[in-house]
Amino acid sequence: MAKTILLVDDEPAILRALQRTLQRAGYRVLLAESGAVALNQLAAEPVALVLSDFRMPGMNGAELLQQVKQQYPSTIGLVLSAYAERDALLACLNSGAAWRFLEKPWDDGQLLKEIAAAISERDRRQAEQQRTNLLLSSHEALLELSASGQVLRFNSAACQVLGLQPSELRGQVLSALFTDINPIELASFLHKKDHDIQLHGVHGDYFSFSHRISDLQHYLLKIMPVQRISDQVFTAVSALLTAADIRSQIEDLLSSDQREFAVVTLLLPDFALYNASLSQAQLDELLEKTGQVLRGQLPAKALLGYVAADKFVLVLPGLVQESQLLVSIEQVLRPFRQQLVLSFNRVQLVFCVGYALSPADGATAALLLQHADVACRQNLVNPAGFFLRYDAGMVEQKRQHFELSNSLYDALESQEFSLSFQPKIRLSDGCCDSAEALIRWHHPKYGQVSPAVFIPIAEQDGQIQAIGDWVLQQALRHFQQWQRQGHSLSHLAINLSGRQLTDPQLSGRIAAYLEHFGLAPACLELEVTETFLMADIDASSRLLGHLHGLGCLLAMDDFGTGYSSLAYLAKLPVNKLKLDRSLLLDLEHSPQCASMIRHMIRMAHELGMQVVAEGIESIGQVLLLRDMQCDYIQGYVFSKPLNSQEFVSFLACQPIRQQWEELLHV
Ligand code: C2E
Ligand code: MG
Ligand code: MG
Repeated sequence: MAKTILLVDDEPAILRALQRTLQRAGYRVLLAESGAVALNQLAAEPVALVLSDFRMPGMNGAELLQQVKQQYPSTIGLVLSAYAERDALLACLNSGAAWRFLEKPWDDGQLLKEIAAAISERDRRQAEQQRTNLLLSSHEALLELSASGQVLRFNSAACQVLGLQPSELRGQVLSALFTDINPIELASFLHKKDHDIQLHGVHGDYFSFSHRISDLQHYLLKIMPVQRISDQVFTAVSALLTAADIRSQIEDLLSSDQREFAVVTLLLPDFALYNASLSQAQLDELLEKTGQVLRGQLPAKALLGYVAADKFVLVLPGLVQESQLLVSIEQVLRPFRQQLVLSFNRVQLVFCVGYALSPADGATAALLLQHADVACRQNLVNPAGFFLRYDAGMVEQKRQHFELSNSLYDALESQEFSLSFQPKIRLSDGCCDSAEALIRWHHPKYGQVSPAVFIPIAEQDGQIQAIGDWVLQQALRHFQQWQRQGHSLSHLAINLSGRQLTDPQLSGRIAAYLEHFGLAPACLELEVTETFLMADIDASSRLLGHLHGLGCLLAMDDFGTGYSSLAYLAKLPVNKLKLDRSLLLDLEHSPQCASMIRHMIRMAHELGMQVVAEGIESIGQVLLLRDMQCDYIQGYVFSKPLNSQEFVSFLACQPIRQQWEELLHV
């Protein structure tokens, strides 16, 4: 998508000439004839670059760019002016408000070159800002590396997790701090961005590294400790084989004539739990015993390695068919159907299994090991309970996550988001007095991407705050407009994800936006999902308390998808309960379902809450819910989510109830 450039000049002819040149080069161009207009434009939408005249009536170029620098630090300021104002220009450049100075009259070719350079500077600054934000605010242990693997920045959590002093980390090359990676492997890991690595630290501790936000020059990595394992255990269990042994044995197999074999990753998914609850000696015993039992079951010629705290690797040569392989894995793991008897307790061990087959699934030892690992971890996320074979689609899925995550950073600026509004119909009179704003993302390559897919990515990778603020502002802007047009809407709902809700500045920003648009807090309803709220009821009650204190309405979204009971709801200052679609699917066909919903509605009313039934697709459901005194219906039966124009037309045909009552003669 095109980057947006804001041109500021008091001479319309110059604006038009510049606009033509830049639009022809594929940029999106906004125009402002004064500094004040420019600042208004910037408040309405993000801009990559401001190209401003210097001498203008009112606010001059230096004053404008100074404000831009303060309020929008990642936007680049460029001055386009006559050389005569040299001293004032120099001051502007020196203050850092302007990045460069371009001379009038300009040469189109040169101008475009400068603009391209400024845009890449802006991308660099933006990515840096994102990494800085994360380094400052995240509780995760984070480490920023240069392209050559040198440690540039880190947070205190990183020092803590790695057990190193800042002075021991700063300026070091990662491959020098960890024993099991060389600079070439490190470069390959940094470059690929789509998998994790596990490395041994200087004290024998084990860490997993994964990419957070990376561009081509800087890599922000998240570090997770993979439990402390004593050296003795590593050597005792590794009386099996070490990671390096396994790798070289696989290389030997590959260069021999026995190129058909399987590499199997056996992961202990509950390892963190054992580590937290057992003493060091007990943990050591558990691992040694596990190694012994596995070894006791090995088929002839099989190799077994203990390669990471929570991971064993099995190499099974000479297998002709995959079914044979599955039987062999089953045999190796059979003893673990019983509890493992240890001196202090009995433990039921569970393994998560993934495998890769040579030669089909990888041509080198490193690839086969990595692919078996990918399959295993895929099995963790999506536990099939089976042994899972590697498939290139798994990497593709991860790559897509990275690609979506990266394009989310640009999506706001490239105007790829929009809002849809889904009407909520009040059953008492069939009127639409409110709606839910739902974000839409049109990705330049993938088309429409569902918020159910990208919101979790944005939460995980840090873009959620900017996106959430955009949704809030756009929703309020639309609501203000509809009010001015005389539509009788009482409020508009937006969704807040869990991560947004834990942002301590959220209620302050909501209050500021409401004030900016001159709207009462009760115009805004905030929908928060049940699963998030119920995870920690006391913390949720505090967080919601702030928002409730502002005067906003609160709704519990997707009720029925988690495990909460209605009794918990009494503890939260919630105005509305949104019954999830999945609860209501059987409404017309199951008396049990109908009875449960009837009770839920009655109880919610007793707790002083209104009830919204979500995802309603049939008139039959509507009629039943009306009999049950449900307050609102939201669903395709009345309307799909609509763009703002369609929504306004929808509002014009009120009350909607007349239409469906006529339809059904009820
Ligand atoms: P939600 O808040 O429960 O939103 C309702 C979802 O159900 C919407 O999907 C809506 O299009 C869909 N829906 C509504 N009526 C029907 C129906 O009759 N039948 C069926 N099959 N579906 C119906 P959508 O827009 O894909 O949103 C999915 C989820 O993404 C939302 O669930 C919400 O949790 C999240 N989301 C959407 N917009 C935002 C946003 O701006 N911010 C945040 N944080 N999350 C958002
Ligand atoms: Mg919702
Ligand atoms: Mg919902």
